[in-house]
Amino acid sequence: MEPTYSPYIIGELQRFDQRYTVFSRARWEEGLMRLKEMQTEISTAKMNRGVKGFAQLEQALRDASWYVERCFGRSASGLANRGLYSWCSQDPANGRYLGRRAAVSPEEASFRVKYAAKLFGADLVGVCMLNRSWLYSKIYDWERGESVDVDTLISEDYRYAVVLAVEMDYEALRTAPSVAGAATGLGYSRMAFVASMVAEFIRCLGYKAIPLGNDVALSIPIAVDAGLGELGRNGLLITPEYGPRVRLCKVLTDLPLKPDEPVDFGVQAFCEVCRKCAEKCPSGAISMGARSEWVDKLSSSRGVLKWPIDPIKCYRFWCANGLDCSICISVCPFNKPNTAVHKAARWFVKHAPPLNRILVWLDDALGYSRQIDIDTFWGKVRARF
Ligand code: SF4
Ligand code: SF4
Repeated sequence: MEPTYSPYIIGELQRFDQRYTVFSRARWEEGLMRLKEMQTEISTAKMNRGVKGFAQLEQALRDASWYVERCFGRSASGLANRGLYSWCSQDPANGRYLGRRAAVSPEEASFRVKYAAKLFGADLVGVCMLNRSWLYSKIYDWERGESVDVDTLISEDYRYAVVLAVEMDYEALRTAPSVAGAATGLGYSRMAFVASMVAEFIRCLGYKAIPLGNDVALSIPIAVDAGLGELGRNGLLITPEYGPRVRLCKVLTDLPLKPDEPVDFGVQAFCEVCRKCAEKCPSGAISMGARSEWVDKLSSSRGVLKWPIDPIKCYRFWCANGLDCSICISVCPFNKPNTAVHKAARWFVKHAPPLNRILVWLDDALGYSRQIDIDTFWGKVRARF
């Protein structure tokens, strides 16, 4: 089946230059660079004042959760081919696999790679043919001060993508925008851990494999192609299992694999009537209205109608908050533990879209997507110990 973004493609998809993501711009655009500095100053000031949710005990949890990503990954900073995300094996012991290709059918290879991904810690895994429209046109390496044409780096041999999703902690995210940052950091650290090992497994089968986080390619459309979920109004991948409460990474490879089918479980129609993420967004970055091609002339991709997200408004809020945010993940009705009630609600979303407004109303009435304050969060955590 066709991915659910297909009806909204309105022209030639223009590949995106990574230099214009909001995080890259914060490395070279003066106003955003100042905002980035301000973010650190504000988070430190909140820590010094012991602001609830931002005290040292809480910020320490957040910063420690990022440790693997920041020291051994760095794709969250947009950097490619570093540490765990190295494009070649870093383990000399695995040199014995060089030139030794496992004889395996695409079906069997997909099964083995998916099993390896789950064993190594992925919560969801899917496979697709790589659509090169989703590769950046250029990667931006702010540390080396260079932009490099992606087509010179990723050859046509890389025909497949393995997409991996890791779940983020449900209760921590309900505190957004405070301790939620620890769930995000852990997600990034787990991405580096899982993607690196899946890539190494494929290399040990005798094929090429490049592990990627946020760098080199847009994760969300590739994840849609691989059948992990659909694009939501909040600009995030909505998965059936966890809603938007996942982080995504991917491995590009020349290992022939059997692609999965995209899924349609009713997100497009549901987001038309829900708007909860837009209502709760503290910066007004998420559109309440119809789809359009872009809102920010630098940081939005062209050629497809989406609910537009204003990345600068979002980033300004993060910087003023002192930490990142995630409210639009936390309040989404698809973000629930995968219980029988949630599965039943999802059945109605898929099979009875005219009831969507009632489901949104019920979500509100039952307080199902309600966030929790920091004291309630710690009370729940203590009760588990
Ligand atoms: S992360 Fe926060 S500020 Fe940014 S779009 Fe989501 S809710 Fe809005
Ligand atoms: S909160 Fe509602 S509108 Fe926003 S992504 Fe989730 S389902 Fe869609």
